[in-house]
Amino acid sequence: AEKAYQFMVRSRIPGGVLTPEQYLVQDELADRYGNGTLRFTTRQSIQLHGILKENLHQTIHDINKALLSTLAACGDVNRNVMACPAPTSSRAQARVQEFAHRLAMHLAPRSRAYSEIWVDGKKTHIIESPDEVEPMYGPTYLPRKFKVGIAFPGDNCIDVYTQDIGLIARLDGDKLIGFTVVIGGGMGMTHGKSETFPRLGTPLCDASTDTVVAIAEAILTVQRDYGDRKNRKHARMKYVVDERGIDWFRDEVERRLGFTLAPPSPVELHAIEDHLGWQQQADGRWFLGLHIENGRVRDTETAQVKTGLREVVAHFRPGVRLTPQQNILLTDIEEAQRDEVEAMLKRYGIVTDPAAIGAYRFAMACPALPTCGLAVAESERVLPELVKEIETSLEELGLAGEPISIRMTGCPNGCARPYMGDIGLVGRSKDLYNVYIGGDQAGTRLNVLYAASVPLKNIPATLQPVLALWKQERQREESFGDFCHRVGIERLRERTTVATA
Ligand code: SF4
Repeated sequence: AEKAYQFMVRSRIPGGVLTPEQYLVQDELADRYGNGTLRFTTRQSIQLHGILKENLHQTIHDINKALLSTLAACGDVNRNVMACPAPTSSRAQARVQEFAHRLAMHLAPRSRAYSEIWVDGKKTHIIESPDEVEPMYGPTYLPRKFKVGIAFPGDNCIDVYTQDIGLIARLDGDKLIGFTVVIGGGMGMTHGKSETFPRLGTPLCDASTDTVVAIAEAILTVQRDYGDRKNRKHARMKYVVDERGIDWFRDEVERRLGFTLAPPSPVELHAIEDHLGWQQQADGRWFLGLHIENGRVRDTETAQVKTGLREVVAHFRPGVRLTPQQNILLTDIEEAQRDEVEAMLKRYGIVTDPAAIGAYRFAMACPALPTCGLAVAESERVLPELVKEIETSLEELGLAGEPISIRMTGCPNGCARPYMGDIGLVGRSKDLYNVYIGGDQAGTRLNVLYAASVPLKNIPATLQPVLALWKQERQREESFGDFCHRVGIERLRERTTVATA
């Protein structure tokens, strides 16, 4: 008999926008074919874990039947297009979501084989027509995955500087007039390979709403033609931008477009908003942002998060949006329904008040073990305990309630964007982690390696002396990351004992 191969199935959900019906389909598939949980990702999609090979076709077929897709949610193509999900006061929000969708469709592979294999279940087109043409990707697709995200000015919830193409909306009042384009961001690196590194995007140009799709396509084709196809660890577009320079890149994009690009406008980003709690929408209705620990939707003894969300979505039929912090927004709720929604969530033990979340509010872990084949260390399963210990240190220092972002991954690929956090913890090998500190709360600065190969159990003790120094010497409301950046990593190392033993 064949081995019981199991798979992760990730959907493509531009901007994290779902109808209630689509959410309920994912919820049901998790129970019918998966491991009974949903995993919200840091790119606003949903992963189903534990899908047996024999159920793959039906799972992907049902996702497509719900008008979602898994096409280009993995692979060396443009991945899920991110966009700020919060339907807050600006009417430009709907336009930004529209662009996320338009870019996702335009940058998707044209292959009909996907539909023939997974949707119709008929014999594959590849076999019947070996000469099928991919106009944008060509026969070899991209050298590596490719990421696009759209932010609003002020709010960098999508971590715009970590994208291959980051777009920052330009607004005139509440009208969307275009985007500032930054390119060449990316998180992944390989331990011990100095030619690989996390990088922040570089401003390239401004784009109008009429030209942005063509500009994005031209950028993608430069990477297709110049990205490193010999060394996968060095194949992301950030290395092309870094090594050839932004001016070379701009010339190449202009040559392909046949027009001159407008210089990039200055960008202002103040914060990474998590959009939690009750907030009013532009149309007067309300949305409620709920914190989901590590994005893992499941029932436990203390909180029936999966059942509670399903009941609320089935009963009230709110819009559903997934956030880049692995949380969920329930949208389009009428004023008169707010109390009922809240009461139902509370019955299932779901916390609705963001102030009650504590230090976990700004913490994120990637899935890592046991579901990610690339993981070399734990992440999702150990972060809750670790955050509790760090929270205890904060309480003892009188720093409870200070917003600190703690981001952890089980390998240096960096899916939870650990190199941007106040604190980043990156798996090095079984039980050992590199500890980074000094990111900023607007997501515009990389953190720096503070201690290498720290055993998991020593991480709180490694951080404690730095937290204590912050408490003693911070200037006014200075954040932990800003303090570390101001003092400098060398000075911090000199003044603290790094517990790596
Ligand atoms: Fe991503 Fe690595 Fe975490 Fe896997 S272990 S989810 S590849 S960061």
